[in-house]
Amino acid sequence: MKYNNYLVVLSILFLFVILFTPVTSALKVEGKYPIELFDEFWESKLTEEEYSILKEASTEPAFNNKYYRNKEKGIYSCAACGNFLFDSEHKYSSGSGWPSFYDVYSDNSVVTRADDSMGMNRTEVICSRCGGHLGHLFSDGPEPTGLRYCINSASLQFLKAAHFAKG
Ligand SMILES: [Zn+2]
Repeated sequence: MKYNNYLVVLSILFLFVILFTPVTSALKVEGKYPIELFDEFWESKLTEEEYSILKEASTEPAFNNKYYRNKEKGIYSCAACGNFLFDSEHKYSSGSGWPSFYDVYSDNSVVTRADDSMGMNRTEVICSRCGGHLGHLFSDGPEPTGLRYCINSASLQFLKAAHFAKG
């Protein structure tokens, strides 16, 4: 009887491993994402600048970009797949020249990975849904997180708060 119970518990655990492992490993190890956008889609939906940032991890000019000075209330979603990434509530003036946030919209909004390009040790910020490049994460942000998500405007699509008002 005890042995049977043990088997049941073991089966349930096994089921959990099967159910939840693929998602995590797909995101962080293999570099695959829930939404795979084909190149034709990226090329037709995005502007040349958006494509070079989201797909090729380039960086837009500081200060001269569309959301750096935006102070309106709303949500910043991924310009490629629409995933909700940041809330205007967490946006602040960092002086960097790029939209800066001290927190993400939700724990599942973005993933990060080490980026050693350009001779620097940085942390790259990526859309957790489509894998699009967003910007970089630094540890010189304000309280309560102490984080600075330094994000390219071209990776974002701003949705005004009015869109979400009820009625
Ligand atoms: Zn995305």
